[in-house]
Amino acid sequence: NPAMPANFIETIINEDLKTGKYGNRVHTRFPPEPNGYLHIGHAKSICLNFGLALKYGGKCNLRFDDTNPTKEDVEYVDSIQEDVKWLGFDWEDRKFYASDYFEKIYELTVELIKKGKAFVCDLSAEETRQYRGTLTEPGKESPYRNRSVEENLELFEKMRAGEFAEGARVLRAKIDMSSPNLNMRDPVLYRIVRTRHHRTGDNWCIYPMYDYAHPISDSLEGVTHSICTLEFEDHRPLYDWTLANLGIYQCQQIEFARLNLTNTIMSKRYLRRLVEEGYVSGWDDPRMPTISGLRRRGYTPESIRDFCDRIGVAKSNSTVDVALLEHCIREDLNTNAPRVMAVLKPLKLIIDNYPAGQVEELVTENNPENPDMGSRTIPFSRELYIEQDDFMENPPKKYFRLTPGAEVRLKNAYLVKCEHVVKSEETGEILEVHCTYDPDTKSGSGTVSRKVKGVLHWVSAAHAAPAEVRLYDYLLLNNQDQEDEEKEVKDFVDTLNVNSIEVLKNCMVEPSIKNSRPGSRFQFLRNGYFVVDRDSGADMPVFNRIVSLKDSWAK
Ligand code: ATP
Ligand code: MG
Ligand code: MG
Repeated sequence: NPAMPANFIETIINEDLKTGKYGNRVHTRFPPEPNGYLHIGHAKSICLNFGLALKYGGKCNLRFDDTNPTKEDVEYVDSIQEDVKWLGFDWEDRKFYASDYFEKIYELTVELIKKGKAFVCDLSAEETRQYRGTLTEPGKESPYRNRSVEENLELFEKMRAGEFAEGARVLRAKIDMSSPNLNMRDPVLYRIVRTRHHRTGDNWCIYPMYDYAHPISDSLEGVTHSICTLEFEDHRPLYDWTLANLGIYQCQQIEFARLNLTNTIMSKRYLRRLVEEGYVSGWDDPRMPTISGLRRRGYTPESIRDFCDRIGVAKSNSTVDVALLEHCIREDLNTNAPRVMAVLKPLKLIIDNYPAGQVEELVTENNPENPDMGSRTIPFSRELYIEQDDFMENPPKKYFRLTPGAEVRLKNAYLVKCEHVVKSEETGEILEVHCTYDPDTKSGSGTVSRKVKGVLHWVSAAHAAPAEVRLYDYLLLNNQDQEDEEKEVKDFVDTLNVNSIEVLKNCMVEPSIKNSRPGSRFQFLRNGYFVVDRDSGADMPVFNRIVSLKDSWAK
């Protein structure tokens, strides 16, 4: 409901609609640079920009901000499109590339030079830095600042023609070297880069800077509200200067707080290091905060959109507890994932008084929270597996699982009582737990049975399917100061969690999920939520734990 603005951006849009600033149009864009995979922070921006277009009946463009050929690649272009679609958004026929505007930007720039608003500068990068001054000291004008328009036009044309070496010259805006805003001290608009571009090939050896190409791209596309993160607040005067001095359609930049998450780092160059230095298996490693990593981990698009809704949009930076993201996937899967039994660390349990060879098909609901999910049968027999952790020979107080002489319920089945154990003669390790069962205590039989505190999950040994299970923990031990990118890159190896993955190779799962397709999600009773990984083989499914059952999100 547009009458009820959900955040300050919607308040601005409502006001603009009222005054007719852009007529009745709302037009946003999501502008990733194709130099890496999208991460959960980008999801916030995607949900915001595409969400505004949906809410106001407007449009949202997908635009690749591909003005820096040295780091960009089609692999990233492809993955970005896949991820935006997977999140549930559609750019329809509005996919654009900043590189498609290179010729137009060049033409506009020639006009800017003719107006005396830009000049070719021969200072080296180091000299340019020195001339720029500091926050407390005004800058010094470049000795090339007063070149004639004719000379600038000629030199700029030669820059394009490839007559100069990389770094030899740049084109700069002529603004104000004493501006308190460093971004306004004659910023560079074009630089020479002799790198093949993934779309324009070798057509160009000069490329517009991001701060210059971005407002022009927004303007050419008729964007009304150009939403970006707070770091660009100081760049807004240059955004406005560019459009005003080129004399083209003026859209407005609005800044919002970027998403920071505890135990998570999102900077692409940091994520790239994790991939390139082999700390993870790839951009879609299930521990990565990338969209593809979260997808492989088992997150649903709905849960990520829900998370983005809940965190909201604010004007000042803060850090969100990753427990909220986990809470969102639990909420989704609680009602939508079938509940099955899987034993991660199996221990043989033998029911001595249960007839050998007998098999009962126990009927059980797939999800008690969601009766629409129906029911299935699970085979029960004399030899089962339970979790090693669910039996203790010498238990501490308040251990309500199986111990010698104690009685527990086997989920959906019977009460069993532990009679004795069989141990390895060499190691003393417990090999088998022998029990008796009480046939009058079958679950759902209506007979009143004794109260027991422990309810254990199990699988039938003869029917269960072997599986591999991968348990994950956070990649980072504690939160990084995300503001300080330098520190982040220097220190990140020290904060890596060396135990962020545990692989269990001898798991046993109930037969109903043996042949599940990659991407299928389940609750393994008492063990958490799991998804079938694409590494699964025909006879060996592989499950990733999405999240455990214990919710640490404090509402
Ligand atoms: P990174 O710093 O992770 O490399 P970036 O800003 O350089 O990200 P872009 O591809 O330029 O990456 O980002 C595309 C859009 O996504 C931008 O509009 C940017 O503001 C937004 N975005 C990036 N990171 C976040 C974040 N953590 N939270 C919200 N929006 C983000
Ligand atoms: Mg960027
Ligand atoms: Mg960045």
